[in-house]
Amino acid sequence: MSRYVTTPIFYVNAAPHLGHAYTVIASDVLARHWRQRGEDVFFLTGTDEHGEPVALAAEKLGVTPQALADQNAARFQTLGPRLNASEDFFIRTSDPRHVQRVQEVLERVKANGYVEKGTYEGWYCPRCADFKTESEVAEGNRCPIHKIELTREQEDNWFFKLSAFQERLEQLFADRPDFVMPPRSANEAKAFIERGLHDVSLSRSKLRWGVPVPWDTDQVVYVWWDALLNYVTALAFAEEGNDQTDTYWPATFHVIGKDILKFHAIYWPALLMAAGLEVPDHILVHGFLLMKDASGEETKMSKSLGNVLDPFEIIDKYGADALRFYLLREVSFGQDGGVSVDGFVTRYESELANDFGNLASRSVSMVHRYRDGVVKSTSVDPEIAAIIDPLAATVAEQIDAGAPSAALETIWTGVRRLNQYVEEQAPWAIAKDPERADELDTVLTTLIDGVRVVALLLYPYLPASTAALLQTLNPGSEADFSYDAAKLRGEFGFAIDKLEPMFPKAI
Ligand SMILES: [Zn+2]
Repeated sequence: MSRYVTTPIFYVNAAPHLGHAYTVIASDVLARHWRQRGEDVFFLTGTDEHGEPVALAAEKLGVTPQALADQNAARFQTLGPRLNASEDFFIRTSDPRHVQRVQEVLERVKANGYVEKGTYEGWYCPRCADFKTESEVAEGNRCPIHKIELTREQEDNWFFKLSAFQERLEQLFADRPDFVMPPRSANEAKAFIERGLHDVSLSRSKLRWGVPVPWDTDQVVYVWWDALLNYVTALAFAEEGNDQTDTYWPATFHVIGKDILKFHAIYWPALLMAAGLEVPDHILVHGFLLMKDASGEETKMSKSLGNVLDPFEIIDKYGADALRFYLLREVSFGQDGGVSVDGFVTRYESELANDFGNLASRSVSMVHRYRDGVVKSTSVDPEIAAIIDPLAATVAEQIDAGAPSAALETIWTGVRRLNQYVEEQAPWAIAKDPERADELDTVLTTLIDGVRVVALLLYPYLPASTAALLQTLNPGSEADFSYDAAKLRGEFGFAIDKLEPMFPKAI
């Protein structure tokens, strides 16, 4: 089965911050998990490079928009590697191969009768690059997201006939209750549709930095249409000479933040329908990471609000695994949640270092202390197998339902049960009695095998540390990451390595 997961493409004018990291990490967990299950996965991320903010910033700096985009895109190209994300391709919307395909799709949309000329007048947020409907304008004619004053815009544009998709979108949401997840976001999108859809600008006339409208090169394509189309165009050229659209389209999950719901849940499926393309399987919406601002209020993490928690500082001090774990553990995916440095340190010490790291290191060191490092092949404790073996199926179900935080909690029930098992069995006591040698072997093999299984399940979240752990437990050959191996088997009969401390205290 093929799976296609995307992050939003990141607007190139911002510096990468925790919000970007969050969305990449969540998408990467899905991609890595599906690969473990042997599925054919394509994972896309990239940068959104056209539009007014880039043009204006470039003008101020006295450079071309392309030069500025090149420079800023590089900061996002390093984001994935620093997070240990496993993207298959990084798309840039100023890539001529993307530009050409955007034009092709829009020609088709026009030929199908969904484009017309019109005059736009209304409120516009330059940061969102979004024309706000009356119901979206916050008090004082402000952007509800950026809190800045909106500008009144009037211009002759090409329009996309979004209103023609009123019924088809209503039908889409009625037929597929999980098209947008979680349900709260689906309801928000439905409410927007039910208020009545109006035609929206397809182009901008006062701007030069963008994809030229193919039938009217005095105008450029409104940056959101250009950006949304990346999800389709990338597949055509990600691999030179191999158009992979038929293999991976429609997308399994577009992972997005809730601030861009309207574009993904309404505009995007309408545009795809207008172009005669299939709509994605799911739009998976995550909430905001909240931090306390100067006044003590919790607000969305955003560069423009100046309350940035630097993910790179955390990575430098604790490693990417720790950041990946914390974000998906602390905030239930799909909801808003508070994050803080203190909260991070608490989770790192109590859960990563203590619950998981300590479980692994004490299990491994007992094997070295009592059995010279050799794990016997024995039958495993059936009570533990009854807890650990069903985890894989539950985790798979939860990941398929777009719930990586719930899946992580499922795995953690296994971690907690294994810790409890150590306390119940007290292998150090059994070891004192030579008559109980077989019993000790069963306990140690069950423990090591249990650690192996939870490490396998945790691999998408903690790719570096679990890979090292799995290698320690199977030093002779290449570690087996496949999902089929996520069951207690008791198949050892060889020596394991000593384990390096997994989550050391930061200095
Ligand atoms: Zn805005």
